Amino acid sequence: MNWHSLSIKDTAKKLSVTLESGLSNKEVEKRQKKYGKNILKSKKNKSTLIKFLEQFKDFMIITLIAAAFISFLVSLLQGEVDFVDPIIILIIITLNAILGTIQENKAEKSLEALKKMSAPTAKVLRGGIVSIVDSKELVPGDIILLESGHYVPADARLIESVNLKVEESSLTGESHPVEKDSSCVLEESTLISERKNLVMATSVVTYGRGSAIVIHTGMDTEVGHIASLIMDDTAPMTPLQKRLAKTSKSLGIAALLICIVIFIIGIIKQMPIFDMFMTSVSLAVAAIPEGLPAIVTIMLSLGVQRMAKKNAVIRKLPAVETLGSATVICSDKTGTLTQNKMTVTDISSIDGTERLDGKFAKFILTLASLCNDSILQVNKKEAIATGEPTESALVVAAYHAGLTKIKLDLTYKRIFEIPFDSGRKLMTTVHKLNDRLDGMTELNSKSSKYISITKGAPDVLINRCSYIYENGKVIPLTSLKKNLIGKHNQSMANNALRVIATAYKEINSIPCNITTCGEVLENGLVFVGLIGMIDPPRSEVKDAVLTCKMAGIKPVMITGDHISTACAIARDLGILNLRERSITGSELSLMSDERLSEEIADYSVFARVSPEHKVRIVKAFQAKGEVVAMTGDGVNDAPALKAADIGCAMGISGTDVAKNAADMILTDDNFATIVSAVREGRGIYDNIRKSVHFLLSSNIGEIITIFIAILFGLPSPLLAVQLLWVNLVTDSLPAISLGVEPAERNIMKRKPISPSKGLFADGLVFKIIFEGIMIGSLALFAFVIGIRYFDGNSMGGVNGPIYGRTMAFCVLSLSQLFHAFNMRSTQSIFTIGLFTNPRLLLSFAICTFLQIAVIMYPPLTKVFDVISLNKTQWLIVFLLSIVPIFVVELQKKVNHNSH
Ligand code: ATP
Repeated sequence: MNWHSLSIKDTAKKLSVTLESGLSNKEVEKRQKKYGKNILKSKKNKSTLIKFLEQFKDFMIITLIAAAFISFLVSLLQGEVDFVDPIIILIIITLNAILGTIQENKAEKSLEALKKMSAPTAKVLRGGIVSIVDSKELVPGDIILLESGHYVPADARLIESVNLKVEESSLTGESHPVEKDSSCVLEESTLISERKNLVMATSVVTYGRGSAIVIHTGMDTEVGHIASLIMDDTAPMTPLQKRLAKTSKSLGIAALLICIVIFIIGIIKQMPIFDMFMTSVSLAVAAIPEGLPAIVTIMLSLGVQRMAKKNAVIRKLPAVETLGSATVICSDKTGTLTQNKMTVTDISSIDGTERLDGKFAKFILTLASLCNDSILQVNKKEAIATGEPTESALVVAAYHAGLTKIKLDLTYKRIFEIPFDSGRKLMTTVHKLNDRLDGMTELNSKSSKYISITKGAPDVLINRCSYIYENGKVIPLTSLKKNLIGKHNQSMANNALRVIATAYKEINSIPCNITTCGEVLENGLVFVGLIGMIDPPRSEVKDAVLTCKMAGIKPVMITGDHISTACAIARDLGILNLRERSITGSELSLMSDERLSEEIADYSVFARVSPEHKVRIVKAFQAKGEVVAMTGDGVNDAPALKAADIGCAMGISGTDVAKNAADMILTDDNFATIVSAVREGRGIYDNIRKSVHFLLSSNIGEIITIFIAILFGLPSPLLAVQLLWVNLVTDSLPAISLGVEPAERNIMKRKPISPSKGLFADGLVFKIIFEGIMIGSLALFAFVIGIRYFDGNSMGGVNGPIYGRTMAFCVLSLSQLFHAFNMRSTQSIFTIGLFTNPRLLLSFAICTFLQIAVIMYPPLTKVFDVISLNKTQWLIVFLLSIVPIFVVELQKKVNHNSH
């Protein structure tokens, strides 16, 4: 169907929709069944079976399976068929793979849930009501509203276009926005890139606004036809994952070498070759930390899920790591530090303060309501406005002064507009002048056709005015009067009010060129007066600012508002104190990049800035080595969000473009959410460190146990199955439980994590090696005691030194379980409370129970080649196993005292 060659009326007819009210909800349901969801098919996720099979693709696991198979064949050839060992090895490996698959699935699910949370929405007219729906729910025939900064959710035929510009690079490759026009009907042969009356899914509205009828959804859209665009959603590795993958590779090679050495020494010492081979391979499987990057993925994804519950939706995983290192948080003022609930409190003319319902107020509020996109709804005498809060405050104030926006709009029909833009800080609308506006009666003699109304920041608008409205008359604006207005503005701003100025101009024709119309309409204006509105700070922000400061993070306010308004609020919130300074965008423009980065640390308030300044601010901080989080909501904020280390987009007021450029979305637009996300980020980083610490020290413990024993001519203290068991049970569960360790109490009293320091900073390597040696020595000690006192010094026998092995096996396993508690904090475990991580307690209980079962339950005893222990032997095992707690407690005390 060539929709571009149909008129709006014909399009609506073809799609059976009424333009005034849209589709009925019933019809939408019907069409959803017929057309399906409005989504582009993404690459299929791997099936669980594939994920499970992939767990076996590790080289050492394959070797182990091969070894088990060979061992089975050898035993078969020797006539003494040994099923047990190979089967147990296979069971353990399978269990391990199942655990891996479950975790991978869990991680994937939580990331998918997040993707859903940040899914795009669309404004749609259905059953006469405008509402926001998930873009997925759109059907052909739906009437959608298009706004600057938002994605076009489906292919659609324009019904209305007001200065509408759309960037269609994803379809046409053309990165310049193209103008759209609803009124034209095109030739059938018109190329896609020239179909001015259509908008296509995935393009972005960069300017103006419009409405359109959806013609195609999902895979039927133009973009759906381009197969190469179908998304591949595989997440790239985060820096930490990359680093850990590298580390685990080198550690793996080292472990492998040690295993080879152990094997060779075993052979030299004439130990049974096959047993030695099995032990070495099992040791390699157990000790090679191939799971480190996976642990990071799991912890990041679990953390991300927790953060989402606290209103911070992470879009890019690396942001979680970066959050912990944040040293500066640059935040917008309106809505993020303040409530964005504006109420008009002051109105001022050249003569000073005016009554809110007086004659002057009525006039200025009429202008402010006309030059306004908010929609007023009156419910049981209560006036509620939807739209931009600044504008809503104005129409509500007008309502209280006895003026209704709908009526005004009908009387003075809007025929042209230049939208508000935080770069220009002005907005202009042109209206038909059928009737005289209230308060303008004295101008009746002149009969202009149109009135152009401009509202905006007073300091910007005043420079566009040549006249002033005073006591119902229009007189030239002298510099004396300008100064007087400046003073009124200043005094309102000092009281933390946001101030809007209003002006107008009578014209007889509308300039046709969109690019130059601003110059014509926004110059030579008649200044009318000022409107001040209060926007109270969010109550939780004061505490969050204090937390930031204690955590070594500098909170910075960036705002388009007047410097005095900004400073008054910043002082109230604790962002601006005596030693810090504030600066305006125009002063910033005069500074060189070098000087700016020299002085940037002194400033904590940037006022009257445009979005372009934000990029400079981010870069200046970064040049000083700071890690910067930056908030933003508009289209022009995207470059700053990208440049920042952590770009935070607003979930409520943010545009799709800003959200897409951001690393994190604040679903409640709240500054305090960034601070709690930083806290989570630090906690996640800590927990990753704890798990890595635990796993590596345990692995080293296992290697040391076997290596030293073999070196000293003892038999291997642990058999293949025992090693694999330790690896599966006592390593994995506690490591995962450490991932949910609650954040340490002092976490926001520490300095940010330095990104240059790396995961193993602060002597972690030393600790890992020391603790590994300790665990290894304890297991060896148990082995020797077992041989010496319970095996009667017998090394061989049919079952080998079975008491020695059983005791070494138990000590290795249990000491690691106890050691997991050491990892929980740098503080004493008794200070933080033994019961504050229930997940770890549960892992401990399960693992201890299983370990005891293996030793005491006869069928398992046979399988694991162990022997039941008596009370004395258990006591020895227990005493040796809790040694790590005491040693590490002592170490913590020494560390604590020396700090
Ligand atoms: P912040 O950066 O703190 O979030 P902001 O982004 O809301 O503030 P801008 O939107 O750039 O700041 O507003 C800057 C100035 O422009 C305001 O102080 C006000 O004077 C004026 N202004 C804001 N909204 C409008 C609007 N809808 N129409 C006209 N002028 C406006």
